[in-house]
Amino acid sequence: MDYMISATIKDEPIRLFAADTTIMVRDAQRIHETSPTASAALGRTITAVAMMTMMLKNENDKISAQIKSNGPTENIMVVGNYRGDIKGDIYNPDVYIPLNREGKLDVAAAIGEGTLTIIKDLGLKHAYIGTVEIVSGEIAEDFTYYFAISEQVPSAVSLGVLVNPDGSIAKAGGFIIQLLPGHTEGIIDYIEKRIVEIPSITNLLHENLSPEDIIKLLFEKYTVVFTDKKNVNYSCDCNRDRFERGLISLGKEELQTIIEEDEKAEVTCHFCREKYIFNKDDLEKLK
Ligand SMILES: [Zn+2]
Repeated sequence: MDYMISATIKDEPIRLFAADTTIMVRDAQRIHETSPTASAALGRTITAVAMMTMMLKNENDKISAQIKSNGPTENIMVVGNYRGDIKGDIYNPDVYIPLNREGKLDVAAAIGEGTLTIIKDLGLKHAYIGTVEIVSGEIAEDFTYYFAISEQVPSAVSLGVLVNPDGSIAKAGGFIIQLLPGHTEGIIDYIEKRIVEIPSITNLLHENLSPEDIIKLLFEKYTVVFTDKKNVNYSCDCNRDRFERGLISLGKEELQTIIEEDEKAEVTCHFCREKYIFNKDDLEKLK
């Protein structure tokens, strides 16, 4: 199973997260039949949200990320919870865009311009909502910008999805570094230098480095203290009841129209593609 870790550095107020999200991104690719570019876009968002679930503190806390953009992918939505259940949806899973100048999947072109919204449902009366403009469309930079602007936490986010030539997912993962109040100038300089020095996240994943290895490599001059380890998986909590409530909310008239015109309703879950079929008798009962 995929897992993530959190860590800190001895005597430095920073927090670190790293995740292997390969199985989840494979699941997402299979469920949504994503093209390589769409796999990278959705997979990077899944990886970011997965690591952000490690920042949640209570059993019922949830977090979601929504990318609304004018590029061919249009909307991406990923939801995760404290237990490490993650689900995602991409509006246009069959985006085909030529590789960019560096010969890489052009996620920025697939996303285009728009907004990234993070919603944290912390069981309070009001959810915490933060929206920022998409700054690059490469997703990692957009989450970095979100942390800086919305949460005022200077961060470095790195997300990678390695797609095989046949469209299957070889590896996926990433890391987040966050500077907390009281950090030294020295650690900022070190991180900036180190991020440039070490191979790219896709290369690290290609070399089969574990989340622990990546953190240790990043901070090889420091003492890393691992603080938590958690499993994470692609999991949808949809059920028939939820879709029933959705149908009831359409109202009697609309249900009657469906009965007369189609004699049944077929609803598909956006996150897991499970189909729920309500026949005429089922619909009559919901009126
Ligand atoms: Zn579902």
